[in-house]
Amino acid sequence: MTNAAVLFDKDGTLLDDVPYNVDPALMRFAPGACEALALLHAHGFRLLVISNQGGVALGRFPFEALAPMEAHLRGMFDACGVPLAGAYWCPHHPAGTVARYAVRCSCRKPQPGMLLRAANEHGLDLSASWFVGDILDDIEAGTRAGCRTVLIDNGNETLWEPGPARIPTLREPNLLQAALAIVREQEAPARGPKLDTMKTATTNTTRQSIA
Ligand SMILES: [Mg+2]
Ligand SMILES: [Zn+2]
Repeated sequence: MTNAAVLFDKDGTLLDDVPYNVDPALMRFAPGACEALALLHAHGFRLLVISNQGGVALGRFPFEALAPMEAHLRGMFDACGVPLAGAYWCPHHPAGTVARYAVRCSCRKPQPGMLLRAANEHGLDLSASWFVGDILDDIEAGTRAGCRTVLIDNGNETLWEPGPARIPTLREPNLLQAALAIVREQEAPARGPKLDTMKTATTNTTRQSIA
């Protein structure tokens, strides 16, 4: 089994965005999500979800609501024929109202804590892994963890706060395009002798040959 994973943000990336939602009845895959997950699974990537759930700290829902939400998410993966290898939730928020969770933590994205923990617990090679998200805080978390990143350019990022770790490796309009691009990049190194020095050239060649 490969140690490469694709780790996904949940809200606005893998699922249609419903702010502070933990109600299973309102959880819907974003367009193309099932196909994207199946494609990545078929190419040997493990699939994980990494999500800020500051609603716990903000008192929008109790910590205990996360487990049934995760169980439903797992069922959604099952229905697509793919395993959910792991799910990580940060319940914290520095401006929270629930004292126990109103802390500045190391797991809330853009911090890389959840990705590092996932890598430890699942033996992931983060340098061979990707983080996919819909805002630049996702990109920063992925970059700081040592992953390559895909920004789903679906209009959810509105601030575009710049930073050296906030430049995605790839920008794609939707999850299926993101999955196709990741697979293309994964296959690219086999075509060139030295990934590090040849990466840009190989990527361009691959893109052209597929286009
Ligand atoms: Mg999101
Ligand atoms: Zn946290």
